[in-house]
Amino acid sequence: MHIGIAGAGLLGRLLAFELARAGHNVEVFDPASGPESRAESGSQAAGWTAAGMLSPVAELERAGDEVFNFGLRSCALWPGIVAALAQPVGLSMNGSLLLAHRSDAGAAQRVVGLLQARATPQNQPQPLSRAELAQLEPAVNGPALAWLLPCEGQIHPIQAMRALAAQATVQGARWHWGISVTALQAGAMTLLHAGQTTQRRFDHVFDVRGVGAKPALPVRGVRGEVLWLHAPGVRLNRPLRLMHPRISGYMVPRPGDIIVVGASEIENEDRSPISLRSMVELLTAAHSVIPELAEARVVHTETNLRPALPDNLPRIVSQSGHTQINGLYRHGWLIAPALVERALAEFKTAALESEVLS
Ligand SMILES: Cc1cc2nc3c(=O)[nH]c(=O)nc-3n(C[C@H](O)[C@H](O)[C@H](O)COP(=O)(O)OP(=O)(O)OC[C@H]3O[C@@H](n4cnc5c(N)ncnc54)[C@H](O)[C@@H]3O)c2cc1C
Repeated sequence: MHIGIAGAGLLGRLLAFELARAGHNVEVFDPASGPESRAESGSQAAGWTAAGMLSPVAELERAGDEVFNFGLRSCALWPGIVAALAQPVGLSMNGSLLLAHRSDAGAAQRVVGLLQARATPQNQPQPLSRAELAQLEPAVNGPALAWLLPCEGQIHPIQAMRALAAQATVQGARWHWGISVTALQAGAMTLLHAGQTTQRRFDHVFDVRGVGAKPALPVRGVRGEVLWLHAPGVRLNRPLRLMHPRISGYMVPRPGDIIVVGASEIENEDRSPISLRSMVELLTAAHSVIPELAEARVVHTETNLRPALPDNLPRIVSQSGHTQINGLYRHGWLIAPALVERALAEFKTAALESEVLS
């Protein structure tokens, strides 16, 4: 089938990879100026900015069973996807740690109690003694309370964004940069390029424009800010999350002695640089967990918008010739493979039905 995809973010790249791999003729449209374009305001995929935590259990604090189940399924799918990509992508499933300072024990116990009640028996948070914590993460020095979330992990989003696009290209997908999709209907897209509007026909179109899907969907952008620290000599083996009544910060290790510290969550669509308040709060959280970070260098900051629907849940709307996927919010890397799997199953059923009818 001839497939048009609106949006070359996380979902667009994953769909292009899967659909081209299945033998479809795939074309992708995005207003970004090229496959690596990460800096233009207004058209930057949130997928680039994400920390890449794969945290089905920790996210149960805010999300429900749907995100948890999509998350567990995606954690099972990611290794196969990564193995099918020619370019290397960092993926590890070493678990993650929940941490709390003794003064915040009450708030932390409340969160852990919530996770215990909502997670399945094989995914329960495991309390760690000081000695166990020191063995798993020698750099952590400060929090008195720790839990291991064994089924969690992380993916390197930048490597994955690049590798998915490269693999889809090898499989025949074509990319059209600098083009906005202004409307989609069954089997059709309206494109805007250099002030000119044109119509294109396809057998099926996918709308995965994230925050750019407004007004077709009631999507909003939720501002998130992250910092990258260069910290040679500070070794982290897995993502860490600090539970705190006011500041919830996480630290995610990346190659090259980088630790990504994130993320704020602010209800507005402002893409301007990180604020002093967010910087102070996130760095205070990180330093309170790993005092050695005092000498780390802040080498990069980034702001982006998470695409969220009013109920903060993901949504797939499948019709003949037209699929919308949106609302990945703060869970995109966690749930995208399972959402794409579900959307493609619905797409295949619809395609078979229309074949039978014709
Ligand atoms: C600071 C931060 C930290 C995060 N951390 C994590 C994390 O640790 N774990 C996790 O699972 N998730 C995380 N996320 C969430 C994750 O990044 C998003 O859920 C995910 O990127 C959403 O994927 P998407 O494809 O729907 O949207 P995006 O990745 O935003 O892609 C949308 C694409 O659509 C394009 N587009 C926009 N308008 C148009 C148009 N008119 N026509 C054509 N194309 C258009 C855009 O240019 C973009 O390329 C984080 C997000 C942020 C901002």
